[in-house]
Amino acid sequence: MGRPKFIASVSFGKDSLATVLLAKEHDEPLDEAVYCEVMFDKDISGEVPEHRDFIYDTAIPKLEEMGVRIIVLRSAKTYVDLFTGRVTRGPKKSMVRSFPICGRCAVQRDCKVRPIQRYQKTLPPETVKYIGIARDETERLLRLENGRQVSLLAKYNFTEQDAWQLCDSAGLLSPVYAFTGRGGCWFCPNAKMPELRHLYDHHPDLWARMLALQAIPGKTTEKFNRTQKFSDIDAVFRQEDGEAALRQAA
Ligand code: SF4
Repeated sequence: MGRPKFIASVSFGKDSLATVLLAKEHDEPLDEAVYCEVMFDKDISGEVPEHRDFIYDTAIPKLEEMGVRIIVLRSAKTYVDLFTGRVTRGPKKSMVRSFPICGRCAVQRDCKVRPIQRYQKTLPPETVKYIGIARDETERLLRLENGRQVSLLAKYNFTEQDAWQLCDSAGLLSPVYAFTGRGGCWFCPNAKMPELRHLYDHHPDLWARMLALQAIPGKTTEKFNRTQKFSDIDAVFRQEDGEAALRQAA
């Protein structure tokens, strides 16, 4: 009987990329790296554009050069499909589903977890999955399924900071780390203000799409995150810009 299949689950953040780099460096078995791309609509990625460009223009070509086979998964459903879908039963029946709920993100479930689960069903049951969890993430390490999920970062004693350095020295550190510490969709309800400000400043086309979604009538909720509408955040940034312009003029 041959060895089981080994796959790395990658987001192209520092921890998953450092895992692939460690696998190559230490000659660990690695058959493929699996990435699931959430889409905003059928043409626009849900990845922050700088990260998306890094994935396709830098990371995938480099990993392929190193002999790593990359599998890209996408759900047929997009953020916009989920947002504009209608509730089919209950008191909110026929309303527009609207923004995903913080902590219970339907995008995570339908656009990320489901395609991965569907793919995993095609793999042999004994497949081993490398997960990018650093040795200093003790609680997450404890949740790994024994034998089926393996952290190479823990095996080689790598902290999150070490993972950062390894990616940086390999030219494989995503530019998103210049303005955020977390990965995730650019429309994420968990996004912090600096991430949203980055989107507002650098990607006005994407910002305008969110404002257009906010304007759709008959939604189950008007709130983008736990407390604010997207248009409230827009108003805050506009006010900040107005105040900065006044200070400059003074
Ligand atoms: S990053 Fe945010 S929006 Fe994207 S799937 Fe995860 S929780 Fe949902």
